Amino acid sequence: MKFKVFFALTILFNLSSSYLGAAVLLKANMWSKNMTLNVVFIDGSDQQKQWVKTYAPLWLEDSSLSFSFYDDFESAPKATHIRISFTGNTASVAGDHKDYFSKDPTLLLNRLNETDLPHRYIKQAVLHEFGHALGFEHEYRSPNWPHGNQIIDKQIKRCLSLMNMDMDSQHCHKINQPLSRQSAFVTAYDKFSIMNYTHNVELNDNQSKTVTAKTTLSFLDKLAIRNWYGN
Ligand SMILES: [Zn+2]
Repeated sequence: MKFKVFFALTILFNLSSSYLGAAVLLKANMWSKNMTLNVVFIDGSDQQKQWVKTYAPLWLEDSSLSFSFYDDFESAPKATHIRISFTGNTASVAGDHKDYFSKDPTLLLNRLNETDLPHRYIKQAVLHEFGHALGFEHEYRSPNWPHGNQIIDKQIKRCLSLMNMDMDSQHCHKINQPLSRQSAFVTAYDKFSIMNYTHNVELNDNQSKTVTAKTTLSFLDKLAIRNWYGN
């Protein structure tokens, strides 16, 4: 698998570590409205595929987009938009990658191999990574992120530690930089968004604040998809 493909990605979904995310949509990575996104499974069990087919469409209820699921490349059209593997990491490229004819994965859900993973975390992993697949980024990159740059620094360090040696180290800086209002549609900072990871933020007065990972789409997540991908 080409790790390179995960240019905008956001590395591992690991609740014990600290990551963040929310309604921040990358304008340059948006799919066209009214599009049917062909989603193909590269591998995975019937149960894993079923979890994806059940939860991913929750994003699209009030949108002009739809998903068509294909259990393998043989049954899929030549052009595929989201290609899922249950191996490697739990991560996704951000939105439209323009690479429709490759066989490389664009969305990884290795977390769904964990034994006895509670159902709410299965749902959370699918919704969070499909948020990325639709072009949503982590909330700490929002111009409205209220808690300073410490998370960005932490994310860059973590990214560098996971990065292959042959990768451009600038990559880690690039994918974690704050986004401008020109480059992204943003809601107000949303601590309830599915795109948040559990994270401790140190505040100036020696206090710390915990941002908690959610397991369902928030009001603003739903508003965002309706506003920016609606009819
Ligand atoms: Zn993420």
